[in-house]
Amino acid sequence: MRRLCRRELCWRGGCRKRQEEKVEEKDLHKGRRERRGHVEELREGLEKYLPMLTYEQARQKVIEKLTEKKGPRATEHVRVGDALGFVLAQEVRTDREYPPFNRATRDGYAVFAADAKAGATLKCTGEIKAGDRVTKELWAETCVQIMTGAAVPSGADAVVMIEHTKRDGDQVRFERDAVTGQNFVPRGSEARAGQTLLTPGMRLGYAELALAAQVGAAELKCASKPRVAILSTGDEIVPVDSIPGRFQIRNSNSVSLAAQVRLAGGKPILLGNAMDREDDLSSKIRRGSQEDLLILSGGVSMGKYDLVEKVLKEMGTEFYFDAVAIRPGKPAVFGKCGEKFVFGLPGNPVSTMVTFELFVAPAVDLLSGAEAREMPVVVARLGEALYEKLGVTHFLPAHMEGQGAGREVKVLKWQGSGDVSALSKANCFVIVPATLEKIGVGERVEVMVRRDLI
Ligand code: AMP
Ligand code: MG
Repeated sequence: MRRLCRRELCWRGGCRKRQEEKVEEKDLHKGRRERRGHVEELREGLEKYLPMLTYEQARQKVIEKLTEKKGPRATEHVRVGDALGFVLAQEVRTDREYPPFNRATRDGYAVFAADAKAGATLKCTGEIKAGDRVTKELWAETCVQIMTGAAVPSGADAVVMIEHTKRDGDQVRFERDAVTGQNFVPRGSEARAGQTLLTPGMRLGYAELALAAQVGAAELKCASKPRVAILSTGDEIVPVDSIPGRFQIRNSNSVSLAAQVRLAGGKPILLGNAMDREDDLSSKIRRGSQEDLLILSGGVSMGKYDLVEKVLKEMGTEFYFDAVAIRPGKPAVFGKCGEKFVFGLPGNPVSTMVTFELFVAPAVDLLSGAEAREMPVVVARLGEALYEKLGVTHFLPAHMEGQGAGREVKVLKWQGSGDVSALSKANCFVIVPATLEKIGVGERVEVMVRRDLI
């Protein structure tokens, strides 16, 4: 039997012509079962010849390799107001009980619940506002006007909302029975003094920062953001601020990759562009492997001048995958060059973006000292039927509207993986499993949301 090349194996199951005719629902399910069998056969074929991974396997491989390397990371002290997106490298404990006093949660009257029955009238002896020092106890058969955030006087066991009372001079009439424990948060019920609230490895979002600020942690020891070197490749690539010749292309990948690195919690280090020449590639790769992670774009396909894999190999790179059963992004490469992990992403801009989200984002998470986050995937109803080739998982630029169960998604028309203008109209990617070649209108599909838009 002739040994099939990777590309042939991958597309063998997908070379049927698009079927535009309507397929009955029943036939569709039967057809799917048959095709699933066909794809399993196809997969077995792939495994026999080349380790073409599914995107889930490839992602898992990245997580496994980066987790093996998890160890102490460089740290720095960051002011709490500037620490958004950092990963914590210390414990944060409470400096006192929270709340530090019985805190009223409504504007109203502090009472003994037993006194404030429906129809009862009590004398109001004063008022307490947020921040007031409260020393006096509440006397029986009286009430005190109290504001949200103020300390409930000792003895009082309920706060009655002002809306459920009527005031006449210093007399307050209650319209419903007060209930013990109503409308205040008891001292120490949110956290005990000295309790650990935040632990190393936690990602700092606005809530975590508020908590740190609340307990007086004005500076936080954080893992330094991983330095991610970005190197584009290609003789045709020119800097974004230059006027390209007719057959040249501006380096948009370095810009999108830097944005994705920042979103993922890393620090982009821009190394510019390497020409499609072994000497230029190897010297710039060597420079890039001084950083925590190196991402290359372009030069990983089958063309004569796609030299990235060859050069990496000559530099002693151990490869964990060099092809993934996805479209776009199939030739994505992941390996370790010396002590550093390296990704070779395909150069077509949409391929570069998709493969970053699938494979590089979890690596940046783990290099930041945090767990790898899940892919931002939701389920939506398909607004228009779609037909795709079997054997690879497709990530199709799409637009999703609506909320929750009412979410509807439509795949956008696009000119393939170089079409950045289509992607700028997309807020998500529809994920078409390798086992399906048609998905009908109204069927539920998985959708990977663009993380920069949510
Ligand atoms: P390659 O993966 O090197 O074969 O490139 C595939 C396509 O992506 C070609 O049309 C390139 O011009 C384009 N491309 C490669 N690198 C970049 C880049 N840095 N910015 C924008 N487009 C690129
Ligand atoms: Mg190229």
